[in-house]
Order: sequence, then C-alpha cells, then structure tokens
Amino acid sequence: MSTGTEQSKAWFDRAKAAIPGGVNSPVRAFNSVGGTPRFMVRGEGPHLWDADGNRYVDLVSSWGPMILGHAHPAVVEAAREAATSGLSFGTPTIGEVELAEEIIGRVEPVERVRLVNSGTEATMSAIRLARGFTGRAKIIKFAGCYHGHVDALLAQAGSGVATLGLPTSPGVTGAQAADTIVLPYNDLDAVRQSFVDNPDTVAAVITEAAAGNMGAVAPDEGFNAALLEIAHEHGALLVMDEVMTGFRVSRAGWFGLEGVAGDLYTFGKVMSGGLPAAAFGGRADIMAKLAPGGPVYQAGTLSGNPVAVATGLATLRAADQSVYAALDANAKRLGNLFRLALSEAGVANSVQYAGNLVSVFFGEAPVRDYAGAQASETWRFPPFFHALLDGGVYAPPSAYEAWFVNAAMDDEAFSVIEAALPAAAQAAAGAVR
Ligand code: PLP
Repeated sequence: MSTGTEQSKAWFDRAKAAIPGGVNSPVRAFNSVGGTPRFMVRGEGPHLWDADGNRYVDLVSSWGPMILGHAHPAVVEAAREAATSGLSFGTPTIGEVELAEEIIGRVEPVERVRLVNSGTEATMSAIRLARGFTGRAKIIKFAGCYHGHVDALLAQAGSGVATLGLPTSPGVTGAQAADTIVLPYNDLDAVRQSFVDNPDTVAAVITEAAAGNMGAVAPDEGFNAALLEIAHEHGALLVMDEVMTGFRVSRAGWFGLEGVAGDLYTFGKVMSGGLPAAAFGGRADIMAKLAPGGPVYQAGTLSGNPVAVATGLATLRAADQSVYAALDANAKRLGNLFRLALSEAGVANSVQYAGNLVSVFFGEAPVRDYAGAQASETWRFPPFFHALLDGGVYAPPSAYEAWFVNAAMDDEAFSVIEAALPAAAQAAAGAVR
C-alpha cells in the first residue's frame, strides 16, 4: 500500500535546517509517535496525498476546519472568485459583515463579532476584553483545555503542550502565570472554592465548550450551566471557547447541543473554511468596550481578509443539516469500528464522544479530566498510530487529540479504515510500556 517515505524524509531533513523542529506547529513533527512526518501535497474529499504519492483517509481534517472534506468545489470557487478581486484591502468589506451576520444568526448568545486571524488571537482578545470589562485580573482555566498559545493560558494546557508533556512554557512570566488559576475539568467544587479563595479578583472562567484537546471529553451534564451560574454569582464572565466545537458539532456548535449561553465566545477552524480567520464575540454590552467604540484595544492588519472570509462563508453556507447528519453518523461509525477492533484484539478501550468529536483512550475507565487522560495507557498509541498510517489512515499524531471526521467520508474511505484497524489493534495489544 505504501510507496515509501523517501520524499517526506528528504523534505523533513531540509525543513529541520530552515524551521525549528522542521514544523510550524509542534504536533506535526510526530515527536510523541516517532517516525517521519508526511509532507502532504494534495487533498480532495476525504483523502490526502503525500509527496511520495501515498493516499490517506484523513482523520485530522486540518485539526477541524475541513468539515466538507478537502477542496470542496464551492469553497475553492469562493476562494478563486475572492482572490481575483484582490487579496487584501485594509478597509471594511462586505464579506466581513456577511460572515459576522452568519455567526450571529447561528449562535444566539453572540450579538456582536470581531474577526481575527487565529484561535489564539481570539482567546487572547476575549481574555483582554473580559479583564477590561470587569476591571479584574485573574482567569480560571481547566487542566487539559487548550486555548491556543496565549501566555496566560498555557498552564497545564492540552493539545501539543500535553503531547510534549510540558507543564507550561519558558517565556511565560511569573506575573502572567500568577493570574491564571488552573482547576481540574468537570470539578465544580474546585470552581466554587476557587471563587471563595479569590474574592472579587476573577475576571472570567474560560472553558472549551466541550473539551477536545485532551482527547474528546464532554462536560458532565450541568457542568457548563453551573460554571455560568457560579461565575455570575461572583461578578465574573464565562468565556466559551468554541474554536474546535464551533460550527462542527452542530450548526450552532456546542451551544446548539446544550443551550448554555456564555458571555463571550471564541471561534476559529470551521468558520474560515481552512484559511486563517477566527473570531470572538458575545454580549453587545461587553463587545461595546472594544476599540474604536470603547477603550479595550484590539486590531489586525489582515483581520477580515476577503479571501478567508469568502472561504468561511462558503463553508458555513454549504454546511446544512445533511452535512451535520453526515458528521454525526461518520463519528459514530468510526467510534464503533475502534471499539470493535480493539475489543477483538483484547485491548481495553474507552471510545468517547463530545458531539461528533471522537477519540479512543486505552483503558476501561471513562476519562473525565486531564488526570484521567494522563492515566490511560498512552504508550499503546504510537504503534496503533503507525499501523493505521501504514494502512492508509492519517490519524492525529498524538494520544491527546480528538479525531476529526468530515462529511466527505464515504463507504470506500471507511473500508480503508476497516481494513487497517485489525493490524492497528494488534499493534496496540502488543505495545510495551
Ligand atoms: N482554542 C481551542 C479550543 C483550540 O482547539 C485551539 C486550537 O486547536 C485554539 C483555541 C487555538 O487556535 P489556533 O491554533 O487557530 O491559534
């Protein structure tokens, strides 16, 4: 099946001489699974092709954005059309208004939206705004939740920070870290106690609307609603980070599944259709504090870029109920295949969902928090991952990531996964710690 990895190897060597670690985002380097990162040259529908000509069923979907699959004709056409009219103006454009209206129309608690360029920028700006609005400094976040590489939010973060086993990052000052309170996910008593211990100083609680950066870990029933209640009781805001879940787990993201209204929201990934665009938004009275109407400064040379806005709009407009039904069905189908293959190979597993985010933890106990994710048998993951890769399935190269299905996955794509899974499950079974 594999036609080798010579080209990827050669490009990785060349990349390492020019780019730190050879990559522009750490998890791409395969550090926790070993081996050669594949250099992708093409994507179409549910598939990616690497520089050696290998084809993969893609279960990363660019870490979330590609819900329609790769190179969807309507999205490609929108990019072409927008690019033909000019790449960037640094002025207001019509598309920005339409994208903001599309987001507001989908997510009821969002009354105003500001476009930015990455999820990191969105959470950084939302935190600044929450601090400016409340006049308070401290932020509560949860261990295993990742909100981008914002200094104040890197403490015990999930995603690549978890993959590399880092507690936080050098370069984050003591003052920045001191204003961040890290609590266990799904632990309301810890939240209540923290507000008692830090009276009148907490600006906001930030949470992934459903955690996807330590694997898929849904909030316990009532967790988000209680967060909102506790935060408000103490004069703080609730920031719902929907960068990963937004417009993926339903047309209105996690809010559409649960209905708990955060004060501020952050979005990224799907809303840009694969180009660099993201957003934060929320209550009109809070958003009114932003410059130029208010004193909280935030800006961006390329914010609201016309091509990124066009691909985002095209993606959201194409994402109708049939797309969400396909995403849900594909996630269930994938999870069932995992469970079956691993159970047949005698590997204890917990297949977990957060909407249509899915992941597999090695171990029987359901995972509710970061400590649980770390206690799972993550050493079984690298051989599992590589056997899938050899079988033509591109999984997230880390045990601490959710798997992202797309709506373009068809029976043929699933037959490739089904064919690859028995060997992968055997590899997981034979893994040594
Ligand atoms: N918030 C969440 C929940 C994310 O999953 C991510 C990225 O994976 C971010 C924020 C940061 O987004 P970006 O990588 O676009 O900066």
